[in-house]
Amino acid sequence: LSQLFRPLDLLGMVYRTIRQGVIDMGAMFDLIDTPAEIVDMPDASALHISDGHVRFENVRFGYDADRAILKGIDLDVPAGSTLAVVGPSGAGKSTLARLLFRFYDPTGGRITIDGQGIAQVTQQSLRAGIGIVPQDTVLFNDTIGYNIAYGRADATDAEVQAAARGAAIAGFIDQLPDGYATRVGERGLKLSGGEKQRVAIARTLLKDPPILILDEATSALDSRTEAEIQTTLQAIERGRTTIVIAHRLSTIVHADQIVVLDAGRVAERGTHAGLLAKGGLYAEMWARQQAERERAEAAE
Ligand code: ATP
Repeated sequence: LSQLFRPLDLLGMVYRTIRQGVIDMGAMFDLIDTPAEIVDMPDASALHISDGHVRFENVRFGYDADRAILKGIDLDVPAGSTLAVVGPSGAGKSTLARLLFRFYDPTGGRITIDGQGIAQVTQQSLRAGIGIVPQDTVLFNDTIGYNIAYGRADATDAEVQAAARGAAIAGFIDQLPDGYATRVGERGLKLSGGEKQRVAIARTLLKDPPILILDEATSALDSRTEAEIQTTLQAIERGRTTIVIAHRLSTIVHADQIVVLDAGRVAERGTHAGLLAKGGLYAEMWARQQAERERAEAAE
């Protein structure tokens, strides 16, 4: 009998993986663009994350054969450290994250996690080990509790509440008329951008992945909300290998390493202080953003 059920089990797993993928991706990965040709190798084994050491070795990639987007990227993100990727729009920052999640395979070089090539392991095990806090979180027309637990159907109420506390959204939920049973989404309570991001953070806390990708929202939040979210994000980064795709440099001052991507190459790398002292591209971007910030604060 168990033989009979195996194909169904497999289907269920594929379905769950897809649903999980959908929820994790949010708006970060335009699903319409997602190619279906990535398949597990016949002898693919499960990824074993012991520390969470992520490496990109001379990674090359283009969405189209005639246009290179990444032109030989080397990254070394030691276990538990934070790497921030910055650079002009279109430089290839989100593409790096898509490759780590194996939505595409590099055309050259390789990506490893704790020494295992990500093309050699099952996609299911790879994606189970990586959490994503996307720019825009998709909420379902269901309760806020369901939205937090999504992807971890077995989570207990106590776990959901602990995740909400960790994401600094528990206080907000407690004062809603129906608490965790309050309906949200298009046909329910509308959440602000900051509140939605906190739901995504709570989901990630429940998933508890050793590797984290944070895709910072491009749209500016007001400075108080930004400061609150920053505090929460820094709490979930602790103890995890984190890659932050950043637009505002003020949010990544603490990163262990900052990589400036420009036209598919690493133009500069170092710490915030080191890059400022260098007086190059990063220092220029920093000066420009500081001036913008001062203007915005004067207007607030
Ligand atoms: P931003 O800061 O604006 O988010 P980015 O640095 O994250 O930009 P990517 O999203 O990685 O940039 O895109 C890098 C380049 O690849 C861009 O020129 C973009 O137009 C192109 N690109 C992105 N996704 C696709 C796709 N699915 N098909 C073809 N080209 C794409």
